[in-house]
Amino acid sequence: MDVVNLTNGKIKFNEQDVPVELSICPKIDCDCGSIYMKFVLSKNPSLGEIVLDLDVYENEIYADPRIDDSAFDDKVQKFLDSLSGNDLAKLFDYYWTEKARQSVEAPISEHPYVFDFKEIEKEGYMLQYGTVFPFADIWAVTIGSRRLIISDYHCLNPSCVCREAHVEFIDMESPEDKVVAVFLVDYDNQSWNFQPHTAPGEMPMPVLQALAENQIPDFYRQLEEHHKKLRQLYAVRRSQLFGSSSTKNKRKKNKKNRKKNRKK
Ligand SMILES: [Zn+2]
Ligand SMILES: [Zn+2]
Repeated sequence: MDVVNLTNGKIKFNEQDVPVELSICPKIDCDCGSIYMKFVLSKNPSLGEIVLDLDVYENEIYADPRIDDSAFDDKVQKFLDSLSGNDLAKLFDYYWTEKARQSVEAPISEHPYVFDFKEIEKEGYMLQYGTVFPFADIWAVTIGSRRLIISDYHCLNPSCVCREAHVEFIDMESPEDKVVAVFLVDYDNQSWNFQPHTAPGEMPMPVLQALAENQIPDFYRQLEEHHKKLRQLYAVRRSQLFGSSSTKNKRKKNKKNRKKNRKK
């Protein structure tokens, strides 16, 4: 029997329908899995309200630390045991949906991601969108009985104007999440190329390209959006740390301009 009724904000606790307020961990990029369940226990005014912390990954409940009562702990355990698979699925969906909403609604400047500036600007490291925005929609395509996840990586070097993403197809059902193929995708020209220095994948490029185009809505526009959003956050974080534009870059610019002038 289901215990959780999220539509009317109630959970059965101690055999009673108890009003509950759910909330999630407030850190934007944190994936700790915490749902906080605030119960208002009107029949037990000494406790007033209690907060349980449910970890949706481990399916474990941590009780309000104010409560030091082993009898109560037993009740909490009983409550957890009474949650059906359906209940846990509902709570997991709630967690994921709320995290996604939180991530979309938060101003970009509040996103706490810490970039490795040296890796990105000196070593040309491309950054995976999902690493920075872990609650973004997962891109998946299916071919026959196979399901492939698409992962996109972007160049954030401020002095580079490329419009290409590094796109990986990953078979999550294979051992060690095998990368089936890797491409460089220019989202402006909608052109695909093999990533230099990698062996062509086991599936032909046109097949994978068609899968992405047909099964991911607005694939190229979404790639562009991802790139833009990452660049935006990168610029914000960079200016917070180093100021808006470094003198070094200005000097470089001037040098370039001088070169141009000389050519004329
Ligand atoms: Zn958290
Ligand atoms: Zn670039």
